[in-house]
Amino acid sequence: MSHDARDGDGAVPHLTPEEFRKLGHKMVDWIADYWSRLESFPVRSQVAPGAVASKLPAHPPEEGLSGEHAWDAVFKDIEDIVLPGVTHWQSPSFFAYFPANASGPAVLGELLSAGLGVQGMLWSTSPAATEIETRVLDWLAELTGLPEAYRSTSATGGGVIQGTASEATLVAMVAARERVRRQGAPADSQWVAYASSQAHSSVLKAAMLCGVARGADDTVHVRQLETDARYALRPDVLERAIREDLAAGRRPFFVCASLGTTSSGAFDPVGALGDVLERTGVKAAGGWLHVDAAWAGAALVCPEHRGLLDGVEAVDSFSFNPHKWLLTNFDCNAFYTRDKRALLDALSVTPEYLRNAASASGAVIDYRDWQVPLGRRFRALKLWFVLRHYGARGLRAHVRGHIRMAEHFESWVSNDARFEVAAPRSLSLVCFRLKPQPGEKPEATDARNRALLDRVNASGKLFLTHTVLPAVDGQPPRYVLRMAIGGTYTEERHVRAAWEALSAAAA
Ligand SMILES: *Cc1c(COP(=O)(O)O)cnc(C)c1O
Repeated sequence: MSHDARDGDGAVPHLTPEEFRKLGHKMVDWIADYWSRLESFPVRSQVAPGAVASKLPAHPPEEGLSGEHAWDAVFKDIEDIVLPGVTHWQSPSFFAYFPANASGPAVLGELLSAGLGVQGMLWSTSPAATEIETRVLDWLAELTGLPEAYRSTSATGGGVIQGTASEATLVAMVAARERVRRQGAPADSQWVAYASSQAHSSVLKAAMLCGVARGADDTVHVRQLETDARYALRPDVLERAIREDLAAGRRPFFVCASLGTTSSGAFDPVGALGDVLERTGVKAAGGWLHVDAAWAGAALVCPEHRGLLDGVEAVDSFSFNPHKWLLTNFDCNAFYTRDKRALLDALSVTPEYLRNAASASGAVIDYRDWQVPLGRRFRALKLWFVLRHYGARGLRAHVRGHIRMAEHFESWVSNDARFEVAAPRSLSLVCFRLKPQPGEKPEATDARNRALLDRVNASGKLFLTHTVLPAVDGQPPRYVLRMAIGGTYTEERHVRAAWEALSAAAA
């Protein structure tokens, strides 16, 4: 149809390939320039609530864009409306939460995925989307030292890309419940899931979503257990809780072990937790051990951290986020299970309109059956490009560099009499605080630390966040600052500058 023919009904021509090429080049240039000026922005956005919205028209545009320079206005809005309201997660001085790495290869993969516009719900809806995902996840399992039982080449295991660690936990939980039910537990059992008090809130949320928990305050069906002096789940506490629940006729079915808690990076003893499931008979009844290694899993590319996997033989599913510390932009969670059957039993529903010969043959994977949504993007491309660009050696150097910086930061903190390291350093995460002054009340120490955090974040020079560590060793709960090092572009000098800013602000 010619443009003229459509003018009458208001149809706006699509971008021609030539127009798209020009604008696309301009957008890539914009991103490249953005990355080179990252250090010039205040790291945390400084706008007030509503400031961004106030710059947007109240109503959607009636007329589309037209004319050769029409998109100039869009690029201007990126600068004037978007940028001020952006917290610069890719800034080398972003040390808040956990990192959310983006990288050139990943963004190129994301662009290609959008350009192909594939919806890969079934193998047959784009064989490449499925088969590249399967192979790349097998590579990642090999790179992180996961056992053969998690690979697609094993009899019953395999990996899949989920959107997030939260979805991975939800999927693991519904698979667990279905497995226990199929082994004879009544569907209306009093299901109980376990994690430490330091586990991510997504465990509770998953239990709420699948009806195990009757609300966010249901402590009967989701037990958030007390931790040890290093904030790790205690096997004896887990065992006692499970035995109590069994004695009360409830049905323990799911344990989430954290490798690298969000708060302080604590590592639960996976092997010992697996032993508890075995000893209490929960494993024999079909009970499930899931490992949430959302952030720390990336470190497993380095053989020196593989000790964290001790006991992984007892684990039913394992997930981590390449979108945190492995150079792959959000969203990309690598989820592995040794029991894909349980996943399919819980998640597979086949309406007539999705039936096809390839699926019926049983020779292909349909990843829709491994996740909550039906549709799925071609996310394997970005992970594939990252693995090809950096190679295993490059990924190890990425992780090791950040851990080295964290070791330096830790030593600066411990050598300054005003400060203390508040929890054992975990990989590239350091929890620290201003020490209590003689006779100071705990609330006053907390208040001084909160004020320090507010001061440095307001400066725009860096951004970090806090946590509250639970009471331990007779100490009350403590408000502490978290230095989470791991930005794609973070170098030693940025960490040094952050320490100098903190030190000056504490004076
Ligand atoms: C970040 C984090 C999560 C949540 O990750 P999403 O991918 O955003 O769902 C879950 N668990 C742990 C331990 C985390 O650090």
